[in-house]
Amino acid sequence: MAGCGQACCSQEGCGEKNQIPRCPICGNEGQPVSPRTLRNLLKTGLIEQIVEEDYHLCQNPECQVVYFHRELGQIFGRDALTVKVWWKDPGLDVPLCYCKGVTRGQIREAWEKGARTFAEIVKATGAMGGRRCEYENPAGRCCSSAIQAYLQELEGNINFG
Ligand SMILES: [Zn+2]
Repeated sequence: MAGCGQACCSQEGCGEKNQIPRCPICGNEGQPVSPRTLRNLLKTGLIEQIVEEDYHLCQNPECQVVYFHRELGQIFGRDALTVKVWWKDPGLDVPLCYCKGVTRGQIREAWEKGARTFAEIVKATGAMGGRRCEYENPAGRCCSSAIQAYLQELEGNINFG
């Protein structure tokens, strides 16, 4: 089994371990996330349940599940986190840059004042550069994709009324 478990492994009979775990509630494919992210963002009392590996997040905006561990049957919903989850909560008070605490509303305000590109938004809001995305952003990765997706959304609203 050496060398297995990687994206490059597509050999037949490679074992169920290599399948991407699906969300136990909605069935969407999970995305790997570090246990360190969970330890930092889950409410006190839940952190003790976190084991060393094999956590995934549910990317479906409609689904209440944020994190899950397939083999242990653990599910952590939005209520289990101390922060709001940007891809599950469209509110203007939700951060898109967690390191600097810049919310969707602040980004929209900057956009309405004329900031149009990613660089202009970053300059106007002070977003990015926090280097703590792995712990502070519930997605466990850089906040830039969240900001860029929201910019596209704002542009779409203008173009299509
Ligand atoms: Zn789900």
